[in-house]
Amino acid sequence: MNVAENLAAIEQQISQSCKAVDRNPQDVKVIAVTKYVSIATAEEAYHAGVTHLGENREEGLNEKWSYFGEKFTWHFIGSLQTKKVKKIIDKVDYIHSLDRLSLAEEIQKRASQKIKCFVQLNVSGEESKHGIHPDELQSFIQNLEAYPLIEIVGLMTMAPFTEDRDLIRACFHKLKVLQQEVQALQLAYAPCQELSMGMSNDYDIAVEEGATFIRIGTSLVGNK
Ligand SMILES: *Cc1c(COP(=O)(O)O)cnc(C)c1O
Repeated sequence: MNVAENLAAIEQQISQSCKAVDRNPQDVKVIAVTKYVSIATAEEAYHAGVTHLGENREEGLNEKWSYFGEKFTWHFIGSLQTKKVKKIIDKVDYIHSLDRLSLAEEIQKRASQKIKCFVQLNVSGEESKHGIHPDELQSFIQNLEAYPLIEIVGLMTMAPFTEDRDLIRACFHKLKVLQQEVQALQLAYAPCQELSMGMSNDYDIAVEEGATFIRIGTSLVGNK
């Protein structure tokens, strides 16, 4: 596992995918998902030039944060239990998993400054997946006006568990369409300029479909 080499390969793929659809590769940011790996491996990522780190559990986030602090921009990418909010809120820059109003309420209560949030969507409809149903997005966004410390910077989703790349593409495309619907509302608290989608196995498709943040664990830093 050589993180610098992996990063170079991923950046190469991002360039290729961007070229195919006439996008600027600089509009795609890589979040290194370090949930499976040690501080030493995360440090390798830092030296390779990674600036965004993602963790999906409060414990992992705090362990890495205590070591690196401000060296990284911090992303909380996993489903977030309400009672854990107070333990991470002052450390993260982005929360990718806002999926219910009770969570918004807790973030509002605990945050000491504005916090950038992605609304997580369950586009694929798989029962195991977190996220709100696309039909509920508009009203969910409207309801978030009540929480002034929450800024809706974008939408996030996870592709369905499938080898069918057309299905994966359709899922990412749908997120892009939903983003445009939110942008059309022209809400100051929901500029919704970002799309968090794409992981190790599907980030090339996600970039073609408009991802601005891709969340890469296995193929960048490994999974053990
Ligand atoms: C683990 C995880 C990732 C990274 O997955 P890989 O397949 O290892 O790249 C991305 N997003 C979320 C929400 C995750 O939990």
